Parts: sequence; C-alpha cells; structure tokens
Amino acid sequence: MTTIELVLGDITEQHVDVVVNAANSSLLGGSGVDGAIHRRGGPEILAACRELRAGHYGGGLPTGQAVATTAGRLPARWVVHTVGPVWSDTEDRSQLLADCHLNSLRVAAELGAASVAFPAISTGIYRWPVASAARIALAAVRDAPVELVRFVLFSQETYDAYERARS
Ligand code: ADP
Repeated sequence: MTTIELVLGDITEQHVDVVVNAANSSLLGGSGVDGAIHRRGGPEILAACRELRAGHYGGGLPTGQAVATTAGRLPARWVVHTVGPVWSDTEDRSQLLADCHLNSLRVAAELGAASVAFPAISTGIYRWPVASAARIALAAVRDAPVELVRFVLFSQETYDAYERARS
C-alpha cells in the first residue's frame, strides 16, 4: 500500500529519496519548480543534466518521460526530471501527464527509492487546469511502486484542488 500525502510547501525543502522536477525538454533549467530546484540544489544538478544532453538525451527529454540525476545540495537523494505536457484546448494530452507520474515512479523504484515528492506538474507555465491535473496525478500514483508519494503544493488554491480530487 502506498501512502499518499498532500502538503502545502516548497518541494526543494522535502526530505525524501526523490524530488520530481517539472522540467522542460532542454533539461537545462527554467522557471517555477525547475528554477527553484537548480537554485537550491546547486550546480551539480545542471552539470548532470548537461551530461545527459551530451549523451543519450542529445535531443532533449521527450514529454512524459523521466530521468534521474543527483539532487546536489537538496535534502533528497535524487532529482527525477520529467517534462509535463503543455495544456491544449484542442487536444487531450492527459495520458502524457499520467505518463510523467508513472515514469517518474518507475525511475524512482529502479533507484531503490521509498519516498517521492511531486509538484503539481504542468499547472504553472504549462497552464493545465489544476482540478484536472490533480485528478490525473492522483489516479496515476494510486498503485505506486514506492511506500510514500507526497504532493507538495505551492499555493492554498492548488492544495485545495488536490484535496477535493482525493475525496
Ligand atoms: P510546468 O512548466 O510543468 O507548468 P511550473 O514549475 O511552472 O511547471 O509549475 C508547476 C507547479 O509548481 C505550479 O503549481 C507552481 O505554482 C508550483 N511551484 C513553483 N515553485 C514551486 C516550489 N518551489 N515547490 C513546489 N511547487 C512549486
């Protein structure tokens, strides 16, 4: 059984095995969660991302996929970077958002992680409506291959949306 927790807070402060980053496909940093993780985690994370770009991920990380690096100075063991889909009014990209969660959990389990913290992937710059994102995210982690999944929500509004989607 996986324990699912919802907390209001900052994902860079979580003492968990894996922190999931809502990255962009370049893997070279961005705003929002991505910027905060690189700022607080220090240059080791960016160096590891550059190595990924120089190797297997020369074309960047495709939407929905996930890859791990060091967590640098964060109080976590690894960062798992995943790229959420940009919200579309004309196309249903829900499976890609579910894939972000499923693939991040798979990578975490392969590392031997027991606890994983997720941000509200795609709900910032990528404009996914939070009520919908919350439903998709919570459904995707239901049978997670780790002991603890913690959603770290940055605003009361986002927290409330996840709370509603859970009940
Ligand atoms: P995306 O590009 O996938 O939309 P963003 O980083 O822009 O990713 O936003 C995703 C969500 O993370 C938003 O709800 C945003 O408010 C939230 N967020 C931003 N900074 C943090 C942080 N330090 N910890 C947790 N959540 C954060």
